[in-house]
Amino acid sequence: HRERLSTSFAASASIEAEDDKERVISVDHGDPTMYENYWQKMGDKAILVIPGWQSLSYFSDKGNLCWFLEPELAQQIIRLHNLVGNAVTEDRHIVVGTGSTQLYNAVLYALSPQDAVEPINVVTAAPYYSSYPLITDCVKSGIYKWAGDAHKFNKEGPYIELVTTPNNPDGHIRQSVVNKTGGILVHDLAYYWPQYTPISSPANHDLMLFTVSKCSGHAGMRIGWALVKDKEVAKKMVKYIEFSTLGVSKDSQLRAAKILNVISDSCEGAAVESFFESSFQLMAQRWKQLRMAAWQSGLFSLPAFPPEFCTFSRRDFEPLPAFAWLKCEGDIEDCEGFLRGKKILTRGGIHFGFDPKYVRVSLLDRDSTFNNFVARLSSIR
Ligand code: PMP
Repeated sequence: HRERLSTSFAASASIEAEDDKERVISVDHGDPTMYENYWQKMGDKAILVIPGWQSLSYFSDKGNLCWFLEPELAQQIIRLHNLVGNAVTEDRHIVVGTGSTQLYNAVLYALSPQDAVEPINVVTAAPYYSSYPLITDCVKSGIYKWAGDAHKFNKEGPYIELVTTPNNPDGHIRQSVVNKTGGILVHDLAYYWPQYTPISSPANHDLMLFTVSKCSGHAGMRIGWALVKDKEVAKKMVKYIEFSTLGVSKDSQLRAAKILNVISDSCEGAAVESFFESSFQLMAQRWKQLRMAAWQSGLFSLPAFPPEFCTFSRRDFEPLPAFAWLKCEGDIEDCEGFLRGKKILTRGGIHFGFDPKYVRVSLLDRDSTFNNFVARLSSIR
């Protein structure tokens, strides 16, 4: 017992063992392995057995606009949104995708005019999710193209603006910034869940993207969904998914339905620990450790967030983003390079269309990685 106590004390006191000092710590990717512990605890409750005769057909729901959407997944998506209160699901078409990454591609295809003289411009305010420009220009499409920071966008004509809220990398709540006629908004709400941010009201936008990757932590399942108001846009997104992958893995959809079901049951007082409460506590603990480490070092600063009321958990709290947008203070210009020198791998501000004095750090890795990271950060002078 004493040994266990002293181990947890060492972790909270951020002391890195001597033999760990040479190890490279990567907090570059937003790989949500932090959630493994919760799902291990759920044991049998989150197991799904799929017999060999199941999932043979391409079709899941022939009469539905999204014919490859498993009805059970659709039900669980609606149930969870209604329970959490983070998105309006009435009068929306659900389009399932292989992660929200595929849905982003589908959105670009669906929203871009086919017969325009010039490709439509795609913008988002910096700092922005580093994959957006890469995905947008990946195939050098003739119908859409990346046009960078929305704050600097001054062209005439139609455009697509992505609004990621809470934002990756900096965790801030956002609204569109361009405000011109001819703009189409796409809201990426991957992080609008109550372990990361207070839920202020159900999001009610025309086109909203969600993913299990950041909700439950099952990034490897590759399931995302879009809530789409306009029927024609939804139809075109479905067409894109037909052309690119001829549907979305049924096995993954059934497993996602199972996982979302367990989460909803856990919120409705089933005899298991509430998923969002447990994840919230973990995020709160990690942010506390991280702020302490930055303070102990004295070389770094972190964004401050005002507390807001959360209609789901019915309490005020400061946002606890999945990523920390860490700034090197003083005369360190290249924060990514500086931390690499300390054997800490992060993603530098340049990748997000921003200042290299910043880096993005994932807070969703396993306990061992996170604890080693804060221990090392706190000792940097
Ligand atoms: N949007 C944002 C803002 C993200 O951070 C991520 C994952 N890092 C994605 C989309 C992609 O999610 P998925 O795993 O569902 O493709």
